[in-house]
Amino acid sequence: MTAPVIEMSGVTAGYESLTALREVSVTVHAGEVLAVLGANGAGKSTLLRAAAGVIRPWAGRVVLDGTDVTRAPAHQRVARGLCLIPEGRGIFRNLTVAQNLRLQAGSAERAEAGLDRVAHLFPVLRDRIRQTAGTLSGGQQQMLAMARAYLTRPRVVLIDEVSMGLAPVVLDDIFAALRTLVADGTALIIVEQYVSRALDLADTAMLLVKGRTAYRGPATDLDEAAIARDYLGYA
Ligand code: ATP
Repeated sequence: MTAPVIEMSGVTAGYESLTALREVSVTVHAGEVLAVLGANGAGKSTLLRAAAGVIRPWAGRVVLDGTDVTRAPAHQRVARGLCLIPEGRGIFRNLTVAQNLRLQAGSAERAEAGLDRVAHLFPVLRDRIRQTAGTLSGGQQQMLAMARAYLTRPRVVLIDEVSMGLAPVVLDDIFAALRTLVADGTALIIVEQYVSRALDLADTAMLLVKGRTAYRGPATDLDEAAIARDYLGYA
């Protein structure tokens, strides 16, 4: 089998005196999807932040394409092909769609070239290219956040709560776009409260309970109803 795109081993991380993640290990190959499930506060976002270098793990290793990046700052991981789409989308609300894409791409020329790729997935963005990002609908803002990922052809995308506040019809488009990204060979780690959608997309899944791994294995082996009842606090 090929080497993993991203590998985290024994990662422990947190905030000041709070340990949010305990000895968590993750392996994702090109074109594979890992769904990270867990109740509010289980440590899902912390896992993505530790992978992206937004926070520094207290213990353990993060390896990107065979290179140890545990101590590398976030921007170096971006340069190595990691793209974090945080909860709340991480777009610049006061800038236009075009300016957001240009910032991500690094130059107007690269943004223009990338826009063709983005436009066939999200045609609405081309129509709204001069609109201020903060005035887009929630679904369009999420599409813009994802368009960043398509522009840079990342090796691994980490996406947090993509469905937050979005209508099911918009989600269909967004999940279709994620499938395309994965089909192109990107590794994907998805944190998602919408368990059925996440498991539908995922090859493997992990369940975090209070920062610890309660399950890690094939997504198909997870009993969605039991997880919802026992861990996520709803039936
Ligand atoms: P949610 O679905 O609510 O975002 P989560 O599983 O993503 O939950 P995390 O955001 O990773 O959970 O939070 C894990 C723990 O770390 C929680 O106890 C949370 O209160 C705490 N925490 C998260 N971010 C910070 C921060 N910036 N400073 C201090 N504590 C934090």
